This record gives sequence, structure tokens and C-alpha cells, in this order.
Amino acid sequence: MTTFQSYDIIVSGGGVAGLSAAAAFGSAGFTVLCVDPQPPVTERDAEGSDLRTTAILQPGRLLLEEAGLWARLDAEAMPLEIMRIIDAGGEVAEPRVTKDFVASEISDQPFGWNLPNWLLRRELVAHLQGMETVTFRPRVGTAGVLARTDHARVRLSDGTVAQCRLLVAADGRNSPVRKALNIPVKTRTYGQKALAFAVTHPLPHENVSTEIHRSGGPFTLVPLPDYQGRPSSAVVWMEDGPEAMRLMALPEAEFEAAMNERSCQILGPLTLASRRTVWPIISQWADTMYGARTALVAEAAHVVPPIGAQGLNMSLADQRCLLDLAKADPANIGSPEMLQRYHRRRHPEVLARVAGIDLLNRTSQLSAQPLRDLRAAGLNALYSLAPVRKTLMQLGLGMR
Ligand SMILES: Cc1cc2nc3c(=O)[nH]c(=O)nc-3n(C[C@H](O)[C@H](O)[C@H](O)COP(=O)(O)OP(=O)(O)OC[C@H]3O[C@@H](n4cnc5c(N)ncnc54)[C@H](O)[C@@H]3O)c2cc1C
Repeated sequence: MTTFQSYDIIVSGGGVAGLSAAAAFGSAGFTVLCVDPQPPVTERDAEGSDLRTTAILQPGRLLLEEAGLWARLDAEAMPLEIMRIIDAGGEVAEPRVTKDFVASEISDQPFGWNLPNWLLRRELVAHLQGMETVTFRPRVGTAGVLARTDHARVRLSDGTVAQCRLLVAADGRNSPVRKALNIPVKTRTYGQKALAFAVTHPLPHENVSTEIHRSGGPFTLVPLPDYQGRPSSAVVWMEDGPEAMRLMALPEAEFEAAMNERSCQILGPLTLASRRTVWPIISQWADTMYGARTALVAEAAHVVPPIGAQGLNMSLADQRCLLDLAKADPANIGSPEMLQRYHRRRHPEVLARVAGIDLLNRTSQLSAQPLRDLRAAGLNALYSLAPVRKTLMQLGLGMR
């Protein structure tokens, strides 16, 4: 009889979500195999490095603390004390409404802590190497899935087969596991792309994350530690697709001029401090978050435009939910009851967040002047009502 290498859990996908899921389950005592066909790129300036950053919000930090990961990240993480929203949608590109959402109004902690994705990968991989319960196999991907009632068998790209009680699909927006299980998704496109890169600037960011709305999508500056002795921020700049590709192709000096016009120079003139990367923007959600012996997490289950630091934080909330269910009844991980519970707890919230972020994105894309004026008035009105303002902040953090 053929025997297979057997684990409690197999995580398909070693992006930030898959690696953190492996760490979370491994530190709870489950045996875990995590596979990814790509080697992790763990240096800022290496080809293929992920220059996006992630603001880990309060609930996400708790999960990473429990997994023993936070101690590795703390020194590099920039606290976000204020989320500043600027409407610059008037005739000329200058701030006309500025509103500060201040973390101390709702908690004694910052909203979140910002970390570059390449650094998260570096620390996650190093952490997994020290864990006896976890095997991480880069350069090996999921090639096929056979899910039975009491286990799932995963055929790997190196020709071997591994078996588990719970398969966690963290293999991205085109998830091969989700496709193998025929779980449908709905996708909404915006004709929009995001440029992600790092900048330095003369004025300090003072731990303020700033979203500037004009048209095409937000221009967001998120605090990073100083770079080469100068204050530094990560930028996510969303634009209509053709305009984003034009900006991407501009010579550096012309690109800097364009970004300085769009940033309204709120931190003084910005200097490009990394290569530029470009990301397609969609909303996508799976019809269900589970299949036989399988849970979908992160972008395999939901994709949102990068607004309000929700994407990876929704993924960490998926993991929190799965981990709690697994710890409550470890003998039955991957059972239909556990997976249905997971779906019931997460899917309504995922749908609500996808809808909310979709609305914010469409509002930020507006180009007609009267609609942009309406947007500025809406921001003023929402902000001036203290209970509404606080509720919005709590919702953003996932505290409600
Ligand atoms: C511009 C931008 C800015 C963002 N900023 C933020 C932010 O500030 N805060 C936030 O919370 N979120 C943010 N997000 C979202 C966040 O980056 C994503 O949610 C997160 O990186 C996605 O993680 P993931 O692991 O699901 O997917 P991915 O990073 O795509 O990882 C999927 C992994 O699966 C692997 N894979 C593919 N095929 C296979 C296979 N056959 N077998 C096994 N593995 C496979 C891939 O190689 C990859 O490593 C941003 C997104 C964008 C586009």
C-alpha cells in the first residue's frame, strides 16, 4: 500500500498570508506543510521583491504576537497614529478638505504598524525555519487536489503526494486549489492599476498615513523608517490603467514631477527611492470560503482595492477564525462542521467589506467636478459627527 507524508494541515501558498498561517497553526501545535512554487524574495532591491507595504492593524498584530512573530517585526514596524484624508478634487491640485482620524480617540494603541512585504516575508521564512512543527518547501507548488471525506491529498509539482486533514488555500487571487475544487468567484474590474514604490521627503511623516483623493483613485503615503538618513514613506498611487502604465514608463525626473503634482507636496518634494511596481486592481470574492477538507483564505477568497489597509488584515481575520475553530476541536479539523462554521462566520463580513471598499474606490475614482465637490462635502459631513467618525474608525480596524 502506498503511504503519503501526512500532516494536520497543508498550506498551499507561501505569500505573506500563507506563511503567517503556517506560523499560526504551527505554534498552536499542528503539523504543517507549506508549499509555494516561487522562492521567497527577501531583499528590498532584489528583482521581484514585493515593494507593497502592509499596515498590520491591531487584531492582526495580536495574531502575530500569539504566533511568536511580533518580536521579530516590532523594531522595523512604523506605528500609524493618524489616518489623514485629504480631498484635493478642486480645479487645481491642492488640499481643500483635510480630516484627521486619530487613533487615541478610540484606543490607547496606534491604528496599526506598517511593514514592507519583502521584510515580512524575510522574517516569516526565518521564523518558520526554527519551528519543528512546520515544513516550508519553496519551489514546490500544488499540482492537484483530491479531497475525500476524511482527508485531502495534494499532488505536488515535484511528483510527490502529501496528505492532510485540512488544506488551507492561500495561493492567491488565481488560486489553483480553488479552481481544482470548482469554487466560483465573482470579479469586478475598475480599469484601474496601482503603482507601489518608496519615496524619501524633507518633512517628517510624524506617523501619519495620508490618502489624497483627486480622481483616478487615492494617492496614499504610509510611514516607513528613515531611508539613507531621510524620512521615508511607501506610496500606493491608483490611476486609470492607461495613465498608470504611462506613469510607469516615464523617465525618473518626469515621474517625480508628476508624483509631486499629485501628492500636493504635503511632505515637501518627494524623491523616488525604489523601483516602481504596478498591480492590477479588482474586487473579487468566492461564492463559498470552503470545499471538501479545504478552507480558502486571503486573496484566494477575497481581493479588494488597497484602501484603508484592509486586504491582508482580512486575511489575518480569516486565519484567526480558522485557528480558533481548530483549537476548540483539534480532533475534527477540516470536518464539514468546522468548515461550514468558518464560512458562516467569515463570509458575511467579507462581503460587507468588499462592498464598502468598492464604494470608497468608486468615490475616489470620480472625475466630474460636481461629483468631486459632493465627495468633499460628504467627507466633511461624516467627519463632523463624532459618533459616526468613531464608528468608522472601529469598523476600519475590525473592532466592530
Ligand atoms: C498596491 C497594493 C497595496 C496593498 N496594501 C495593503 C495594505 O496596506 N494593507 C493590507 O492589509 N493589504 C494591502 N494590500 C493587499 C495585500 O498585499 C494582499 O492581501 C496580500 O499581499 C495578499 O496576500 P496573499 O498571500 O493572499 O497573496 P499572494 O501574495 O499573491 O500570495 C499567493 C502565493 O501563492 C503562490 N502560489 C501560486 N500558485 C501556487 C501553487 N500552485 N501552489 C502553491 N502556491 C502557489 C504564489 O507564488 C504566491 O506566493 C495591498 C495590495 C496591493 C495590490
